[in-house]
This record gives sequence, structure tokens and C-alpha cells, in this order.
Amino acid sequence: MAYLTLKNINKIYPNGYHAVHNFNLEIEKGEFIVFVGPSGCGKSTTLRMIAGLEDISNGDFMINGKRANEMGPREREVAMVFQSYALYPQMTVFDNIAFGLTLQGVDEEVIEEKVKHTAAILGLTDYLDRLPRALSGGQRQRVAIGRAIIRKVGVFLMDEPLSNLDAKQRVTMRSEIAQIHKSTGATTIYVTHDQTEAMTLADRIVVMKDGYVQQIGTPYELYYDPVNVFVAGFIGEPPMNFIRGKVTGGAIKFGDNVLALDKKLGSRVKDFEGKEIVFAFRPEHIELGAVSGAYQLQAEVELTEMLGDNTNVYVTAGEDKAILKVDPHDTPEMEEQITFSIPVESVYLFDGETEMVIK
Ligand code: ADP
Repeated sequence: MAYLTLKNINKIYPNGYHAVHNFNLEIEKGEFIVFVGPSGCGKSTTLRMIAGLEDISNGDFMINGKRANEMGPREREVAMVFQSYALYPQMTVFDNIAFGLTLQGVDEEVIEEKVKHTAAILGLTDYLDRLPRALSGGQRQRVAIGRAIIRKVGVFLMDEPLSNLDAKQRVTMRSEIAQIHKSTGATTIYVTHDQTEAMTLADRIVVMKDGYVQQIGTPYELYYDPVNVFVAGFIGEPPMNFIRGKVTGGAIKFGDNVLALDKKLGSRVKDFEGKEIVFAFRPEHIELGAVSGAYQLQAEVELTEMLGDNTNVYVTAGEDKAILKVDPHDTPEMEEQITFSIPVESVYLFDGETEMVIK
């Protein structure tokens, strides 16, 4: 098991594109780290620099405290699982899992024992004689993971390993990956664009956008304490609601609405008089009806989506839109005028210009 240090890591591709800017992170032994962000934000590039598949343009990368920038992929003792499983179609599951060890000339008996052990962890014991084409997508991905975990490596790197699976298989495989991590205890870095995967798997999440790290934290920290509008909107489903308004005499004006601020929030925006701020709240933190001591807003129902355990209610108030998550038994009617309440402690405020949180 290894610990990793990334210090001011940058990637500038030969065509001049600056894909990763000053990436800083210390990864502890056994930690499960997830890089998350929209497509093109630099997640894979960072992972590939860690794997040794891509040069580091500048900055220091260390494995167990030892500089690793110039080490080749093998020397780094990392194993990578790609989104395309890259299995050998003409080889059985056994041979696919054993491949790396066979190449290294490991003793056959040792290989057999290790493959069987790995297959047992992954629930593949009954499939060892099959060819990849006779497996489901989830089983193929397990073989690919097996091939990675059979080698004794310090770090596992996974690049969108679930993206070729259907929704149901993804959920199953997600919990299997969590189990595998628990049983191997291996340091893992996992890349995904899916915030649910990030939230459910990670010890810590690194949120990226346009090549810049936005925030690093536990799922709890990112959900409850986002540093900016981007992180607040990226983590959580449905996303946080954002209403832009102007601070005017201790109140926020948006459209025709004026929302008087309580003392606590008022003091947070005292330097923003006349400026634009973003008033924000999560769909799941509202209550239907007028709750005293909470912020009360009026809106019209545009659409409702019944999801089983909850209903998403899409509402509009003038130019502003929001999504509210409510109990299906309380689902309002289309076009109904409703009042909903947001507890003071569930309100987030962001600077309208920099989009950074106002504390
Ligand atoms: P992600 O994994 O977050 O989707 P990538 O790390 O693959 O993003 O890519 C980050 C950015 O770098 C993208 O804008 C991509 O187009 C660019 N990029 C990736 N590979 C190369 C390359 N070989 N040359 C130039 N630009 C690249």
C-alpha cells in the first residue's frame, strides 16, 4: 500500500493546451479518492500522470515520499482499470486474470492459488473457464478488476470503470467496488463524472473544473460546506437551487420579490449592499407551507415528477426557477400557487461575482 503526494502538478499538452493547473493533494495509505467533474476537466489527465502514462509538465509527484516523476509505469507499482475492459477475447477468465503474473514468469501453482483467491473475492469462481464474450458487462468488468488486483501493487487507478454498464449493473458494481476496497484496503484513485458514484465510494472527493481543483473534502463536507456555486451545484441530486438577487437595505430583491433577511444572514451580506448575490438552497431542505421563522417563498408549480420515494416539483417565481423535493403524498397540483419554506440554517449565500460562498 502506498501514500502519494502531488505538489503543484501541471499538465501542458504538446499543442500548448494547459489541461491541469497546480494540482495539490496528499493521498493517505488505503484512502479511496475520487476525482469528479464534468467531461474535459482534467480528471483522466491527472490519473494518467499518476500512472506514468503521461508526462508531468511541472510539479512534484511522490510515491511513499520518493520522487516518482521520472519513474516508468511498472516501477510505480500501480494497476489501472480502464472503462473499456481491455480483456483478451480468446483467453478464458482464468488466463485473463493470470495474464500479468504469467508474463512475469510466476510459478504456475502460485498463479493458480492467486487466481482462485482473486476470483473468490470477485464472485467469479464459477466462470474461470469461460471466454469474455460469454459474460455480462458487469462480470467482464470484474475480470478487468481481478487482473488489476491480483498483482501486488501500491495503488489502484480506475478510470470511469462503470461507464459501459447499464444503470442497474452500475449500482451493483459500485457496491462491489466498495467491498473490494474494504477487503484489499488498497489505496485507490477513481475517476468519474458521476457525483453519485463519487459520494457513495469516496473517503475524499476532489472536484475539478476546467483543469482547476475546486474543492477537496469528504462527501459530507462537499454536501454541507461547498466553497463555491460550482461545487454546490455539482454535488447533490437534484442540484441545489440558485436565485440571483441584489442586496438592498437588508433584503434581497429578485424579480418582483423582496426577501427580508434575518439578522444572521443580514450580517453576512452587510458588505454586499447594492451588489448581486446568489441565494441558494437544496431541493430536499424545503418544507411545503409557511413555517414560521423560516424563509417563505411563493411559486407556481410547472411540473411534477413522481419518483417513488419522493416527488420532484419544478416551480417558477417570475424569472426564477427551482426544484423542490417533497413527499409524494404532498404532491401539489400543476399550476397550483404554493408557499414553501426554507429553514434559515439551510440557506447558502454566494458572491454573485466571484461565486464563492459568503460565510
Ligand atoms: P476528463 O477526464 O476530465 O474528461 P481529460 O483529462 O481527458 O478530461 O482532458 C482534459 C482536457 O485536456 C480536455 O480539454 C482534453 O480535450 C484535453 N486533452 C486530453 N488529451 C489531450 C492531448 N493528448 N492533447 C491535447 N489536449 C488533450
